[in-house]
Amino acid sequence: MSTSSVRPTPRPGILDIEAYVPGKSSAKGGAKVYKLSSNETPLGAPQSAVAAYRAAADKLDLYPDGSARVLREAIASRFGLDAERIICGNGSDDLLHLLAAAYVGPGDEGIMTIHGFAIYKIAILAAGGTPVIAPEKDLTTCVDAILERVSTRTKVVFIANPNNPTGTYLPFEEVRRLHSALPRNVLLVLDGAYAEYVRRNDYSAGIDLVATSENVVMTRTFSKIYGLAALRIGWAYGPAHVCDALNRIRGPFNVSGPALAAGTAAILDPLHVEASVDHNDRWLDWLTSEIRGLGLAVTPSVANFVLVHFPGDGPGDDRGGATAAEEFLAERGVIVRRVASYNLPNALRITIGSEEANHAVVAALRDFQKGSGVA
Ligand SMILES: *Cc1c(COP(=O)(O)O)cnc(C)c1O
Repeated sequence: MSTSSVRPTPRPGILDIEAYVPGKSSAKGGAKVYKLSSNETPLGAPQSAVAAYRAAADKLDLYPDGSARVLREAIASRFGLDAERIICGNGSDDLLHLLAAAYVGPGDEGIMTIHGFAIYKIAILAAGGTPVIAPEKDLTTCVDAILERVSTRTKVVFIANPNNPTGTYLPFEEVRRLHSALPRNVLLVLDGAYAEYVRRNDYSAGIDLVATSENVVMTRTFSKIYGLAALRIGWAYGPAHVCDALNRIRGPFNVSGPALAAGTAAILDPLHVEASVDHNDRWLDWLTSEIRGLGLAVTPSVANFVLVHFPGDGPGDDRGGATAAEEFLAERGVIVRRVASYNLPNALRITIGSEEANHAVVAALRDFQKGSGVA
Protein backbone atom coordinates (compact mmCIF):
# COMPACT_ATOMS: atom_id res chain seq x y z
CA MET A 1 0.00 0.00 0.00
CA SER A 2 1.48 3.37 -0.94
CA THR A 3 1.77 5.82 1.92
CA SER A 4 -0.52 8.26 0.16
CA SER A 5 -3.47 5.83 0.45
CA VAL A 6 -3.05 5.33 4.21
CA ARG A 7 -5.59 7.26 6.20
CA PRO A 8 -7.46 6.97 9.47
CA THR A 9 -10.29 4.42 9.41
CA PRO A 10 -13.35 4.51 11.67
CA ARG A 11 -13.93 1.60 14.07
CA PRO A 12 -15.85 -1.42 12.68
CA GLY A 13 -19.56 -0.64 12.49
CA ILE A 14 -19.28 3.13 12.04
CA LEU A 15 -19.56 3.01 8.25
CA ASP A 16 -22.53 0.61 8.54
CA ILE A 17 -24.50 3.48 10.05
CA GLU A 18 -26.98 5.16 7.78
CA ALA A 19 -26.99 8.77 8.95
CA TYR A 20 -30.27 9.93 10.51
CA VAL A 21 -32.47 11.71 7.98
CA PRO A 22 -34.40 14.52 9.70
CA GLY A 23 -37.87 15.58 8.63
CA LYS A 24 -37.75 18.14 5.83
CA SER A 25 -38.11 21.76 6.83
CA SER A 26 -38.95 23.56 3.61
CA ALA A 27 -41.04 23.10 0.50
CA LYS A 28 -41.00 24.69 -2.93
CA GLY A 29 -44.66 25.26 -3.61
CA GLY A 30 -47.41 26.83 -1.55
CA ALA A 31 -47.40 30.41 -0.33
CA LYS A 32 -47.67 29.15 3.22
CA VAL A 33 -45.61 26.28 4.59
CA TYR A 34 -46.89 23.87 7.26
CA LYS A 35 -44.01 21.87 8.74
CA LEU A 36 -45.56 18.63 9.95
CA SER A 37 -42.48 16.47 9.53
CA SER A 38 -40.75 16.45 12.94
CA ASN A 39 -43.53 16.19 15.56
CA GLU A 40 -42.96 19.71 16.84
CA THR A 41 -45.79 21.44 18.70
CA PRO A 42 -48.13 23.82 16.86
CA LEU A 43 -48.43 25.88 20.05
CA GLY A 44 -44.85 27.16 20.04
CA ALA A 45 -42.57 27.50 23.06
CA PRO A 46 -44.08 28.68 26.37
CA GLN A 47 -43.66 32.47 26.77
CA SER A 48 -42.07 31.85 30.18
CA ALA A 49 -39.33 29.80 28.50
CA VAL A 50 -38.75 32.39 25.79
CA ALA A 51 -38.34 35.09 28.47
CA ALA A 52 -35.88 32.93 30.44
CA TYR A 53 -33.91 32.24 27.26
CA ARG A 54 -33.68 35.96 26.48
CA ALA A 55 -32.54 36.74 30.01
CA ALA A 56 -29.78 34.12 29.65
CA ALA A 57 -28.32 36.21 26.81
CA ASP A 58 -26.66 38.38 29.45
CA LYS A 59 -24.51 35.46 30.63
CA LEU A 60 -23.13 34.01 27.42
CA ASP A 61 -19.54 34.42 28.61
CA LEU A 62 -20.00 31.97 31.50
CA TYR A 63 -19.93 28.18 31.40
CA PRO A 64 -23.31 26.71 32.35
CA ASP A 65 -23.82 24.66 35.53
CA GLY A 66 -22.49 21.31 34.30
CA SER A 67 -24.60 19.41 36.84
CA ALA A 68 -27.84 21.04 35.59
CA ARG A 69 -28.87 21.20 39.26
CA VAL A 70 -31.66 23.79 38.97
CA LEU A 71 -33.24 22.04 35.99
CA ARG A 72 -32.98 18.60 37.63
CA GLU A 73 -34.60 19.95 40.79
CA ALA A 74 -37.42 21.54 38.80
CA ILE A 75 -38.05 18.25 36.96
CA ALA A 76 -37.86 16.34 40.25
CA SER A 77 -40.42 18.57 41.95
CA ARG A 78 -42.74 18.52 38.94
CA PHE A 79 -42.79 14.70 38.74
CA GLY A 80 -42.09 13.79 42.38
CA LEU A 81 -38.66 12.27 41.66
CA ASP A 82 -35.25 12.14 43.30
CA ALA A 83 -33.13 14.83 41.59
CA GLU A 84 -30.01 12.73 42.20
CA ARG A 85 -31.35 10.10 39.82
CA ILE A 86 -32.02 12.54 36.97
CA ILE A 87 -29.44 13.27 34.29
CA CYS A 88 -29.87 15.92 31.60
CA GLY A 89 -28.67 15.72 28.02
CA ASN A 90 -28.27 17.70 24.84
CA GLY A 91 -31.63 16.39 23.64
CA SER A 92 -32.67 12.89 24.64
CA ASP A 93 -30.68 11.66 21.62
CA ASP A 94 -27.58 12.56 23.64
CA LEU A 95 -28.77 10.33 26.49
CA LEU A 96 -29.66 7.43 24.17
CA HIS A 97 -26.13 7.57 22.74
CA LEU A 98 -24.61 7.73 26.23
CA LEU A 99 -26.64 4.70 27.33
CA ALA A 100 -25.42 2.68 24.36
CA ALA A 101 -21.84 3.89 24.82
CA ALA A 102 -21.85 2.93 28.49
CA TYR A 103 -23.49 -0.50 28.21
CA VAL A 104 -22.89 -1.86 24.70
CA GLY A 105 -19.56 -2.76 23.12
CA PRO A 106 -18.16 -5.00 20.38
CA GLY A 107 -19.75 -8.45 20.57
CA ASP A 108 -22.75 -7.12 22.51
CA GLU A 109 -26.30 -6.83 21.23
CA GLY A 110 -28.98 -4.18 21.65
CA ILE A 111 -32.59 -5.05 20.86
CA MET A 112 -35.07 -2.69 19.19
CA THR A 113 -38.22 -3.24 17.15
CA ILE A 114 -38.60 -3.20 13.38
CA HIS A 115 -40.38 0.18 13.33
CA GLY A 116 -38.59 1.51 16.41
CA PHE A 117 -37.01 4.97 16.64
CA ALA A 118 -34.01 5.27 14.29
CA ILE A 119 -31.57 6.64 16.86
CA TYR A 120 -31.44 3.31 18.74
CA LYS A 121 -29.83 1.54 15.81
CA ILE A 122 -27.37 4.38 15.23
CA ALA A 123 -26.42 4.48 18.93
CA ILE A 124 -25.89 0.70 19.15
CA LEU A 125 -23.74 0.63 16.00
CA ALA A 126 -21.79 3.72 17.05
CA ALA A 127 -20.98 1.98 20.34
CA GLY A 128 -19.57 -0.99 18.40
CA GLY A 129 -22.51 -3.30 19.18
CA THR A 130 -24.92 -5.25 17.00
CA PRO A 131 -28.56 -4.16 16.63
CA VAL A 132 -31.02 -7.06 16.89
CA ILE A 133 -34.38 -6.26 15.36
CA ALA A 134 -37.60 -7.73 16.79
CA PRO A 135 -40.75 -7.83 14.63
CA GLU A 136 -43.86 -5.97 15.78
CA LYS A 137 -47.48 -7.09 15.92
CA ASP A 138 -50.06 -4.76 14.34
CA LEU A 139 -47.37 -2.03 14.20
CA THR A 140 -47.00 -2.34 17.97
CA THR A 141 -44.07 -3.46 20.11
CA CYS A 142 -44.38 -7.19 20.78
CA VAL A 143 -43.00 -8.33 24.14
CA ASP A 144 -42.73 -11.99 23.15
CA ALA A 145 -40.80 -11.17 19.97
CA ILE A 146 -38.31 -9.16 22.03
CA LEU A 147 -37.94 -11.89 24.67
CA GLU A 148 -37.31 -14.50 21.98
CA ARG A 149 -34.29 -12.47 20.85
CA VAL A 150 -32.65 -12.04 24.22
CA SER A 151 -29.31 -13.85 24.44
CA THR A 152 -26.26 -13.82 26.70
CA ARG A 153 -24.95 -11.05 24.45
CA THR A 154 -27.97 -8.75 25.02
CA LYS A 155 -27.04 -5.63 27.00
CA VAL A 156 -29.89 -3.22 26.34
CA VAL A 157 -33.47 -3.12 25.03
CA PHE A 158 -34.75 0.17 23.59
CA ILE A 159 -38.50 0.81 23.42
CA ALA A 160 -40.25 4.06 22.58
CA ASN A 161 -43.62 4.12 24.34
CA PRO A 162 -45.56 5.44 22.52
CA ASN A 163 -43.42 4.63 19.50
CA ASN A 164 -42.38 6.99 16.73
CA PRO A 165 -43.30 6.69 13.83
CA THR A 166 -46.21 4.30 14.48
CA GLY A 167 -47.93 6.24 17.30
CA THR A 168 -48.92 2.98 19.02
CA TYR A 169 -48.23 2.16 22.67
CA LEU A 170 -47.67 -0.78 24.95
CA PRO A 171 -50.03 -1.02 27.96
CA PHE A 172 -48.00 -0.87 31.15
CA GLU A 173 -48.81 -4.43 32.16
CA GLU A 174 -46.96 -5.50 29.01
CA VAL A 175 -43.93 -3.37 29.90
CA ARG A 176 -43.94 -5.00 33.34
CA ARG A 177 -44.17 -8.44 31.77
CA LEU A 178 -41.19 -7.62 29.56
CA HIS A 179 -39.21 -6.34 32.52
CA SER A 180 -39.96 -9.38 34.71
CA ALA A 181 -38.79 -11.77 32.00
CA LEU A 182 -35.58 -9.88 31.13
CA PRO A 183 -32.32 -11.00 32.74
CA ARG A 184 -31.38 -8.55 35.52
CA ASN A 185 -28.17 -7.53 33.72
CA VAL A 186 -30.07 -6.22 30.69
CA LEU A 187 -30.88 -2.51 30.74
CA LEU A 188 -34.46 -1.66 29.66
CA VAL A 189 -34.69 1.85 28.18
CA LEU A 190 -38.20 3.32 28.05
CA ASP A 191 -38.20 6.34 25.73
CA GLY A 192 -41.16 8.51 26.75
CA ALA A 193 -40.68 11.33 24.22
CA TYR A 194 -44.48 11.52 23.76
CA ALA A 195 -45.58 10.45 27.26
CA GLU A 196 -47.40 13.71 28.07
CA TYR A 197 -49.72 13.27 25.10
CA VAL A 198 -51.06 9.86 26.11
CA ARG A 199 -54.54 9.76 27.62
CA ARG A 200 -55.00 6.06 28.39
CA ASN A 201 -55.64 4.50 31.80
CA ASP A 202 -53.42 1.52 31.05
CA TYR A 203 -50.41 3.68 30.07
CA SER A 204 -47.46 4.69 32.22
CA ALA A 205 -44.15 6.23 31.18
CA GLY A 206 -42.47 3.96 33.71
CA ILE A 207 -41.52 6.18 36.66
CA ASP A 208 -42.60 3.54 39.22
CA LEU A 209 -40.70 0.79 37.43
CA VAL A 210 -37.53 2.90 37.35
CA ALA A 211 -37.93 3.73 41.04
CA THR A 212 -38.26 0.09 42.05
CA SER A 213 -35.69 -1.65 39.85
CA GLU A 214 -31.98 -1.55 39.09
CA ASN A 215 -32.17 -2.04 35.31
CA VAL A 216 -34.75 0.40 33.92
CA VAL A 217 -34.15 3.92 32.59
CA MET A 218 -36.80 6.33 31.30
CA THR A 219 -35.83 9.10 28.86
CA ARG A 220 -37.88 12.24 28.21
CA THR A 221 -37.52 15.30 26.01
CA PHE A 222 -38.27 19.03 25.92
CA SER A 223 -38.42 18.87 22.11
CA LYS A 224 -42.02 17.80 21.68
CA ILE A 225 -44.79 18.95 24.01
CA TYR A 226 -42.59 21.58 25.72
CA GLY A 227 -41.90 23.25 22.38
CA LEU A 228 -38.13 23.60 22.82
CA ALA A 229 -36.77 21.39 20.02
CA ALA A 230 -34.26 24.04 18.93
CA LEU A 231 -32.62 24.11 22.36
CA ARG A 232 -31.84 20.37 22.55
CA ILE A 233 -32.80 19.32 26.09
CA GLY A 234 -33.63 15.84 27.28
CA TRP A 235 -33.49 14.06 30.61
CA ALA A 236 -33.34 10.56 31.96
CA TYR A 237 -34.51 9.07 35.24
CA GLY A 238 -32.66 5.96 36.26
CA PRO A 239 -31.02 3.97 39.03
CA ALA A 240 -28.18 5.83 40.79
CA HIS A 241 -25.58 3.43 39.39
CA VAL A 242 -26.70 4.13 35.80
CA CYS A 243 -26.65 7.91 36.35
CA ASP A 244 -23.17 7.51 37.81
CA ALA A 245 -21.94 5.67 34.69
CA LEU A 246 -23.47 8.26 32.33
CA ASN A 247 -22.09 11.15 34.35
CA ARG A 248 -18.58 9.79 33.80
CA ILE A 249 -18.81 9.85 30.01
CA ARG A 250 -21.17 12.72 29.18
CA GLY A 251 -19.89 16.09 28.03
CA PRO A 252 -19.23 18.06 31.23
CA PHE A 253 -21.38 20.96 29.93
CA ASN A 254 -23.73 18.98 27.69
CA VAL A 255 -26.72 21.29 28.24
CA SER A 256 -26.17 24.97 27.39
CA GLY A 257 -26.96 27.81 29.81
CA PRO A 258 -29.87 29.26 27.78
CA ALA A 259 -31.30 25.74 27.44
CA LEU A 260 -31.11 25.15 31.20
CA ALA A 261 -32.89 28.46 31.83
CA ALA A 262 -35.64 27.89 29.28
CA GLY A 263 -36.15 24.25 30.25
CA THR A 264 -36.55 25.16 33.91
CA ALA A 265 -39.20 27.75 33.03
CA ALA A 266 -41.02 25.33 30.72
CA ILE A 267 -41.25 22.52 33.28
CA LEU A 268 -42.82 24.96 35.74
CA ASP A 269 -45.50 25.96 33.20
CA PRO A 270 -48.14 23.19 33.38
CA LEU A 271 -50.77 25.33 31.64
CA HIS A 272 -48.81 25.21 28.41
CA VAL A 273 -48.67 21.41 28.55
CA GLU A 274 -52.39 21.23 29.32
CA ALA A 275 -53.22 23.46 26.36
CA SER A 276 -51.08 21.26 24.11
CA VAL A 277 -52.76 18.07 25.27
CA ASP A 278 -56.23 19.57 24.79
CA HIS A 279 -55.33 20.73 21.29
CA ASN A 280 -53.85 17.35 20.45
CA ASP A 281 -56.80 15.31 21.78
CA ARG A 282 -59.19 17.26 19.64
CA TRP A 283 -57.21 17.29 16.40
CA LEU A 284 -55.79 13.77 16.65
CA ASP A 285 -59.34 12.40 16.58
CA TRP A 286 -60.42 14.79 13.86
CA LEU A 287 -57.46 14.14 11.57
CA THR A 288 -57.72 10.37 12.04
CA SER A 289 -61.38 10.22 11.09
CA GLU A 290 -61.11 12.76 8.24
CA ILE A 291 -58.20 10.89 6.64
CA ARG A 292 -59.95 7.54 7.07
CA GLY A 293 -62.95 9.14 5.38
CA LEU A 294 -60.74 9.66 2.31
CA GLY A 295 -60.20 5.92 2.06
CA LEU A 296 -56.74 5.81 3.65
CA ALA A 297 -55.81 3.61 6.59
CA VAL A 298 -54.57 5.43 9.69
CA THR A 299 -52.84 3.56 12.52
CA PRO A 300 -54.55 4.42 15.85
CA SER A 301 -52.19 6.90 17.54
CA VAL A 302 -51.87 8.13 21.12
CA ALA A 303 -49.14 10.65 20.25
CA ASN A 304 -49.02 13.97 18.36
CA PHE A 305 -48.80 12.45 14.89
CA VAL A 306 -50.56 9.94 12.68
CA LEU A 307 -49.20 7.24 10.42
CA VAL A 308 -51.13 7.19 7.13
CA HIS A 309 -50.94 4.18 4.82
CA PHE A 310 -51.06 4.31 1.03
CA PRO A 311 -51.73 1.46 -1.36
CA GLY A 312 -48.69 -0.24 -2.88
CA ASP A 313 -48.08 -3.46 -4.75
CA GLY A 314 -46.23 -5.08 -1.90
CA PRO A 315 -43.51 -4.50 0.63
CA GLY A 316 -40.95 -2.06 -0.70
CA ASP A 317 -43.16 -0.83 -3.53
CA ASP A 318 -44.55 2.65 -3.04
CA ARG A 319 -45.62 3.37 -6.63
CA GLY A 320 -48.56 5.73 -6.66
CA GLY A 321 -48.46 5.78 -2.89
CA ALA A 322 -46.46 7.48 -0.23
CA THR A 323 -43.80 9.08 -2.46
CA ALA A 324 -46.35 10.62 -4.79
CA ALA A 325 -48.47 11.80 -1.88
CA GLU A 326 -45.48 13.36 -0.12
CA GLU A 327 -44.57 15.29 -3.27
CA PHE A 328 -48.18 16.33 -3.86
CA LEU A 329 -48.52 17.61 -0.29
CA ALA A 330 -45.17 19.45 -0.49
CA GLU A 331 -46.42 21.35 -3.54
CA ARG A 332 -49.30 22.51 -1.36
CA GLY A 333 -46.84 23.65 1.32
CA VAL A 334 -47.63 20.69 3.56
CA ILE A 335 -44.37 19.02 4.63
CA VAL A 336 -44.73 15.52 6.05
CA ARG A 337 -42.33 12.70 6.85
CA ARG A 338 -41.51 9.73 4.65
CA VAL A 339 -40.84 6.68 6.78
CA ALA A 340 -39.36 4.22 4.26
CA SER A 341 -36.22 4.09 6.41
CA TYR A 342 -38.44 2.77 9.22
CA ASN A 343 -39.47 -0.18 7.04
CA LEU A 344 -42.73 1.58 6.19
CA PRO A 345 -42.33 2.38 2.46
CA ASN A 346 -46.05 2.90 1.88
CA ALA A 347 -46.74 5.25 4.75
CA LEU A 348 -46.32 8.90 5.71
CA ARG A 349 -46.09 10.32 9.21
CA ILE A 350 -48.00 13.55 9.71
CA THR A 351 -47.67 15.70 12.84
CA ILE A 352 -50.85 17.16 14.37
CA GLY A 353 -50.59 20.86 13.47
CA SER A 354 -52.56 24.02 14.02
CA GLU A 355 -56.24 24.04 13.06
CA GLU A 356 -55.28 25.69 9.76
CA ALA A 357 -52.50 23.17 9.07
CA ASN A 358 -54.78 20.20 9.81
CA HIS A 359 -57.39 21.50 7.38
CA ALA A 360 -54.65 22.01 4.78
CA VAL A 361 -53.56 18.38 5.23
CA VAL A 362 -57.04 17.00 4.70
CA ALA A 363 -57.77 19.27 1.72
CA ALA A 364 -54.50 18.29 0.04
CA LEU A 365 -54.98 14.57 0.71
CA ARG A 366 -58.53 14.80 -0.65
CA ASP A 367 -57.24 16.28 -3.90
CA PHE A 368 -54.47 13.70 -4.03
CA GLN A 369 -56.99 10.90 -3.67
CA LYS A 370 -59.18 12.40 -6.41
CA GLY A 371 -56.15 12.55 -8.69
CA SER A 372 -55.36 8.92 -7.90
CA GLY A 373 -58.90 7.99 -8.95
CA VAL A 374 -59.67 6.68 -5.46
CA ALA A 375 -62.23 9.15 -4.16
C1 LIG B 1 -38.38 13.18 18.99
C2 LIG B 1 -37.97 11.95 19.72
C3 LIG B 1 -36.98 11.99 20.68
C4 LIG B 1 -36.42 13.30 21.12
O1 LIG B 1 -35.21 13.61 20.66
P1 LIG B 1 -34.51 14.92 21.22
O2 LIG B 1 -33.08 14.58 21.00
O3 LIG B 1 -34.82 15.03 22.69
O4 LIG B 1 -34.99 16.08 20.44
C5 LIG B 1 -36.64 10.83 21.34
N1 LIG B 1 -37.27 9.67 21.07
C6 LIG B 1 -38.26 9.60 20.18
C7 LIG B 1 -38.98 8.31 19.97
C8 LIG B 1 -38.62 10.74 19.46
O5 LIG B 1 -39.59 10.67 18.54
